[in-house]
Amino acid sequence: MAFKVTPTYSTKLKARLKWQAVIKDAQKHLSLNFCQSELSPGKLQVLATLIDKTFLNGSFAKACKPKYAVQERLSGNVTNLSETAVLNAVAGFEPDSNTLIFFKKGWQRKPSLRRPVQADGVYCLSKLEWLVHALGHEMVHCIVHNACPKAREYDAYKTDNGHGPIFMRLNKHIFGHSSSQYKAGWSRLGQLQVQWDTSSWEAGSSSSSSSSSNEEEQQGP
Ligand SMILES: [Zn+2]
Repeated sequence: MAFKVTPTYSTKLKARLKWQAVIKDAQKHLSLNFCQSELSPGKLQVLATLIDKTFLNGSFAKACKPKYAVQERLSGNVTNLSETAVLNAVAGFEPDSNTLIFFKKGWQRKPSLRRPVQADGVYCLSKLEWLVHALGHEMVHCIVHNACPKAREYDAYKTDNGHGPIFMRLNKHIFGHSSSQYKAGWSRLGQLQVQWDTSSWEAGSSSSSSSSSNEEEQQGP
């Protein structure tokens, strides 16, 4: 019997509407362009609970029992990630400690109408939108790990640094996400129109990713 593996348009639309509801509620806890110093494990947990209730009927917290952490930046040995990707990492999932980790340094940047951030295929005009989509992304890693700890060994998961077909399908089906990365700027026909130019991001940013104007950035592992 054939079954559909690609969500229909209406399924994606439903996901967008759910995200709108999440973002509305999330503003009770963080402003649209919050300061990165406001990021805390408690705030992340509150936002993840909103996402969990909206998309998964609260089963994420029950089944996965995740932890949340905030660090200054991604550190340590990260295989398969370029130096730029490490510097610009906004979040990651640490399977051994079952922890969703967010990196403050990555949240200095401020999306806008002129320069949105495309997070997992969704255009975000504010940091908060970007944050909840990034949280959803890390929740997918956490779900895979808890449902099947051995998935890390499977090519279908570990391809593309943990963003193989297993991740991509779940990310699409649960959250309507069509990508596993974040990028800056508007794009047309799948091509980036505006590349990273961190010099014009929020004043005071000391990001060191501007060595090349032609680099795309990826989310952490
Ligand atoms: Zn990821």
